[in-house]
Amino acid sequence: MRTRFAPSPTGPLHLGHAYSALLAHDTARAQGGSFVLRIEDLDQSRARPEWEQLIYDDLAWLGITWDGPVLRQSERTDIYATALRGPLCDHVFACHCNRRDVMAAAAAPQDGEPAFGPDGIIYPGTCAGLPAVAPSDIPTQNMRLRLDRLNPDLRLSFHETCFTDHTPEFSVSEFQRDIGSVVLWRQHYAAYHLACVIDDYAQGITHIIRGADLFESTQIHVLLQHLLGYDTPTYCHHRLITDETGKRLAKRHDAKSIQAFRAQGATPADIRHMVGLPRIST
Ligand code: GLU
Repeated sequence: MRTRFAPSPTGPLHLGHAYSALLAHDTARAQGGSFVLRIEDLDQSRARPEWEQLIYDDLAWLGITWDGPVLRQSERTDIYATALRGPLCDHVFACHCNRRDVMAAAAAPQDGEPAFGPDGIIYPGTCAGLPAVAPSDIPTQNMRLRLDRLNPDLRLSFHETCFTDHTPEFSVSEFQRDIGSVVLWRQHYAAYHLACVIDDYAQGITHIIRGADLFESTQIHVLLQHLLGYDTPTYCHHRLITDETGKRLAKRHDAKSIQAFRAQGATPADIRHMVGLPRIST
């Protein structure tokens, strides 16, 4: 088995990240598998070299070792663009809507309140009927997933080992209704879903261990894997670490950052205890 940790260098790692990284790392090591690291720095306006360095420092301090080179998404723009131009070219359309346009169209009087999916407002389809863009012109500014060239009855599924005890299954028509035409490319860089799927494949990931907040997004990844001809890995969406009020930790919870705990003299064993993991990794 081969798993990974894929943080974004947009702030300090907190207890939730530590749990995710330790769980994936421990699982790989216990099974004699490998554990790799990927830096999800697609959005260069938010990524910072100092946050990236802190990721390496925090992980090393936690006792986490990773195999092989670190993959940095900011260096792979051409690879993502090639996938859009190639296997995905019949399944994308150029979208000229900004956030406000999407909001306005989705909330048009006849449509009632905008519907939300795992990726925000479900795209109302404004640009879906525009003439197709020639592959050589892909990617243009923004590209979205086109669903109308797929059999609406096609059923896809993935094997989930943590979050539910059944195999989540969905059809293309359910995907269209509940998730819709998600963004795959934004102006100059690939969107998370596209890059994540391509990189999980490129890094040979067999098991994806990540937070339950991404459970709904996995349908997007499974559909993209289908379109790209990739096998679907096994998924474990683990419980989330919350604050005192039961809210999921986010980057703003600086007080729960690993850096802050380190500065207060906590040990890696203390962090394991705080997130409910066994003291010694096996
Ligand atoms: N970069 C994502 C995050 O920091 C993780 C994505 C994933 O594990 O697929 O939340």
